[in-house]
Amino acid sequence: MELLKLKPCLKILSILLGILSCAVISQATGLSSAHHIQIELVPGESKLIGQNDITVKTNRTEVLEFRLTERAVRIEVRVNKTPRNFRFENGRLRLTLEPHERSGELQVTIHYAAKFDGPVPMTLVNMDNPGFGVTATISEKGSFLLAGAGWYPELVDSPASYRVTVTAPSGLIAVTAGKSLGHRIINGKTVSDWEVKYPVEGLSLSVARYVVEEKSAGDVTVATYLLPHNRHLAAAYLAATAEYLSLYSDLFGPYPFQKFAVVENFFPTGYGFPSYTLLGGRVLQLPFIVGTSLGHEIAHCWWGNGVYVDFSQGNWSEGLTTYVADYRFKEMDSPEAARDHRRQWLRNYSTLVAPQNDFALDRFQSRYDPVTRTIGYDKGAMVFHMIRQTLGEEAFWGALRDIYRNRLFRRTSWSDLQHAFETRGKRSLQDFFDQWVYRRGAPRFSLDEVRAESIDSTWKVEGQIIQRWPYFSFPLTLALKTRNQTVTQQIVVSGRATSFELNSDHRPHQLTADPDDDIFRRLTPSEIPPAVNALKSSPSVMTVLSAGLDPDLKKVAEILALSLGLKHNEFVSESELDRQMLAENDILVIGLPRRTDLLQKMPARVTIRSDSFSLNEKVYAEPFDTFFGVFEHPGTANRIAALFMPLSPQYADVVARKITHYGKYSYLAFQSGKNLDKGIWPLETSPLVVEWNQGK
Ligand SMILES: [Zn+2]
Repeated sequence: MELLKLKPCLKILSILLGILSCAVISQATGLSSAHHIQIELVPGESKLIGQNDITVKTNRTEVLEFRLTERAVRIEVRVNKTPRNFRFENGRLRLTLEPHERSGELQVTIHYAAKFDGPVPMTLVNMDNPGFGVTATISEKGSFLLAGAGWYPELVDSPASYRVTVTAPSGLIAVTAGKSLGHRIINGKTVSDWEVKYPVEGLSLSVARYVVEEKSAGDVTVATYLLPHNRHLAAAYLAATAEYLSLYSDLFGPYPFQKFAVVENFFPTGYGFPSYTLLGGRVLQLPFIVGTSLGHEIAHCWWGNGVYVDFSQGNWSEGLTTYVADYRFKEMDSPEAARDHRRQWLRNYSTLVAPQNDFALDRFQSRYDPVTRTIGYDKGAMVFHMIRQTLGEEAFWGALRDIYRNRLFRRTSWSDLQHAFETRGKRSLQDFFDQWVYRRGAPRFSLDEVRAESIDSTWKVEGQIIQRWPYFSFPLTLALKTRNQTVTQQIVVSGRATSFELNSDHRPHQLTADPDDDIFRRLTPSEIPPAVNALKSSPSVMTVLSAGLDPDLKKVAEILALSLGLKHNEFVSESELDRQMLAENDILVIGLPRRTDLLQKMPARVTIRSDSFSLNEKVYAEPFDTFFGVFEHPGTANRIAALFMPLSPQYADVVARKITHYGKYSYLAFQSGKNLDKGIWPLETSPLVVEWNQGK
């Protein structure tokens, strides 16, 4: 299963605040403030009672403006202990200062109460919206108060430091950013104290019956806040967290916070906050989270939650975090794993992003569907890969260290990154950023007119790279394979046609352009093996119920269509499917059809019979076995056919819900609902490969 589908770090907090703050930035007046937020939770009534003592350096400000939830009631404001009038509308509390208050320090105290009783979904419904739109809820089960939800009065456009004291019924422990000052029992209630000394752009708060485990990793405290049934996971998370902190401290510079905590949420979410991550309990139990998503969230403490994103120029932090975490872990495995990962980015882009819904990387704010995910995360990561290829190891990692050192807790834009890379690389990257960051699209190119010629005892290979409009300019590696060796040469491609010439002492066998998939490009259909993603993004599907299908499987077919998110889908029986319907649609066949023509493009490594199937030379013949495969359409080029073939209704519904998580795969085999085999069909042809027959 792919992790990021379950656990995309939405970073709603930065987005909300980024956008809101941009609107008021012209009023920036050098305000600064220190807050002591004191919250008493009444979970039985979904209520909090709050008091915020704020010390403000006013610096000639006339009006203090606070964000506070519209749900706030019983608001009282005091300035230097004297009650004051204020205006409160649309979630903004405005306080006009007297002339003598406009310089120096003021003590502002705000009392309020608020009810947050929205329902929370307890199961994963839509993977592209992992927060479910819930921003604040207080309940007996737990409380979740997102930054930006206005659960405390937040002074607009003021970098602030915080002390947070949360009083709750006994056993309910609160977690937020910063450093824990401990949890105490006072008068039968649990009091949690936190201190945040760095300037944060808003605080989130989680409260539940946590079991807390801590250990030291150098100067940093690593901690887990898990619900009792998951406490056994603590050791693995603590150990992995300490390793990631050391990995990234070495790579970028010292970790910016005093702690990192893995915090369990009582409903399924995936968030990365400054100094902690908040994950649903079921996600935490998945064995691969420790090796993937945890590292991604910790890397965000440097990129996004450490160096802030200037959202007015787009969000670069997901691409960079994906590159230095998810991708880098593959690279640490092997060069092949890294190459496969890059190839998968290209496949995602080529299948999930159509030219008409493509957009430039600097327009990316946050992910909410496959298109935004592919551009913000996959293309973003690939752009960092190309910068690294262009500048080399030392300049690339050196520039990231520079950015981290110079811009920690400052809003940072693509142009700030460009500047840092240019300084280290000692060259202009304007053309690079113009075409990869500020312009949408990707190059489409192929080898053309490739000839090999023997001259005396050597060989000359000539040819062209032909681009389709719009043209890009990029370095390209050509690899010429002979019997004994591989000769590589780098050329610069630009415009419609770029000629090249390679020389070899031996007879050429194969010429490959971009053999390692180092260039972001749109693949041609012949390079994209049919896969589940192609079905998910299909513009029109006919779901064909095969003749003699078990009636229980008709229901399962509906579940499958729903979980794949098929937008234009029609159910037809095998006998209703006519020639035109077949020609004009992608097809999804449920059960073994009588018509053999529907599956004629199924690759040879699969054999299907009515009561068994074989895949990769393994035979599956139990009633709880299921095959799913996507292959070429029997009659129409660039369309696909898929087969969902449970040997009985047993476990078929379980599998039907799972298939959508295997987007990049062409074929899947399940036993009792568990995946046993998965893979991608090997490629047939590529426009970037030319092969010579031995005799030629
Ligand atoms: Zn992320």
